Parts: sequence; structure tokens; C-alpha cells
Amino acid sequence: MHRRTFLTLSVTGLASMAFASPSPATPLFLEVAELPDFESARVRLRRVRNYVGFANFNLISFDSMLYYARNVSSIGAFTKRELDFLEKLFYDETSKYGFFGRRTCESITSAIDTRETVKIPHSGHYLFKGEPLKAFKQLQKDVGPSLILTSGVRSVPKQMDLFLNKIKSCKGNLQQAAKSIAPPGYSYHSIGDFDVGKKGFGHLNFTKRFAATKEFLKIQTLPYVRTRYTPGNPDGVRYEPWHIEIVSGA
Ligand SMILES: [Zn+2]
Repeated sequence: MHRRTFLTLSVTGLASMAFASPSPATPLFLEVAELPDFESARVRLRRVRNYVGFANFNLISFDSMLYYARNVSSIGAFTKRELDFLEKLFYDETSKYGFFGRRTCESITSAIDTRETVKIPHSGHYLFKGEPLKAFKQLQKDVGPSLILTSGVRSVPKQMDLFLNKIKSCKGNLQQAAKSIAPPGYSYHSIGDFDVGKKGFGHLNFTKRFAATKEFLKIQTLPYVRTRYTPGNPDGVRYEPWHIEIVSGA
């Protein structure tokens, strides 16, 4: 091949690769200077969760969380540096670490109106009244009693807790973490989406194995729900066969 032709092909190839891939080439990690505040904020969030209980923690607002931390000595108040870290994480531009979903929650202090939610028995989770509750009840009828709710409404602190723990298990790699947990402020769980699973399937409900269950296959035939995060979705999130988006007006 003529050298000039080869160079032109290489450059064209690189350019099209850059457009095809929504993720930055180098994974973005937490900065070393942030690590102590990340870790102490993560532990403090976990203490709040243990204090208020798993189910209540799904609905707690950021301000209520701060209130508990200030007033319960076994939790301890969030430090200025911890709060700065959590705020930066909430308001940061997420596309720089490969997450392209839309913001669902504008303010870190946005609170869920608990009167608009219903606790789903035996699940430890809540759903919003209206379309989400109606869709879940219909799913239980259409799919059968083996269909369970595995995650419903999530508050800002709940999403923070999930995201910080995912960052920890990804050893500080934000890009990898955001592929499986939406950053706080970007979760569709705060506006009606929910996760379902098969009774007795445990942690496998959050793996691709769920896509091989008869529960999943039945869901695919129903017009009022669809899978939010399909393979290769534009948000940059992994394939999540368990995550339900409601088809409005279906
Ligand atoms: Zn989900």
C-alpha cells in the first residue's frame, strides 16, 4: 500500500472510532486528594442508613440526612470537606467520565414527597403512586407472584450511597462505576423507574442471567413497560434487563 494512502486510512479510522465511542479514552479516577473525604463521607452515609433503616433510607432527603448526622452522636456531623465532596459529585459534569444520561434531579436538597409513595410489602422498597404503582400491580398480575420489586423510589442520599460504594468496589474508577450505577441526580428511580426480579433468584436478579428467566421473557411481551438500559444504550449504562421504564399512556 502506498504510504500516503495508509496514513489517510489510519487517520480516518481513528476519527470514526472517536465518534463511535461515547466513553473517554482514559478512565477517570477520583483524585488522590479526594480519597479521605470520599471514604469518610461514604462511611457516614452508611451510618445514617443503619440508623434510619434500609427502607426509610430509600426516601430520606439530603437535609434530613444532615439533621440525623448532626444530632446522633454515633453518626457524627458531616464535615465541610465531606459536604464539598458530595456537592461536587452531585453537580459535576458526568460526561467527562462517560455517563450521558439526563439529569432527573436538579438540586441536591430535592426531597421526595413521601405521601406520594407506597411501601411494597416484603420488599423494603417504595413505589410512586400513579403510573409506577399501577404498572407494578399489573406486572404482578401478568407475570405472576414470582415477580418481585428489587428497587423502587430512590432519594438523593440513597443514590449517593449506592454510587459511592460502587466507586469503592471499582477502586476509584468513576467511569466503570457509572456504567452500573447512575451518579446521584441522574437516576430514573427518582422519577418512576423501578427494578424487578424473580423470587428466590437473589443477587442473580442484577445480572444478565435475569434475561433468561421466564419472568423477563413475559415482560418483553407487555406493552406498558420496556427495558430502560438496553445493550448499547446512549446513556453509557451497561445492559440492565431488570430495570423497568414505564411506557406512558400504554
Ligand atoms: Zn434500576
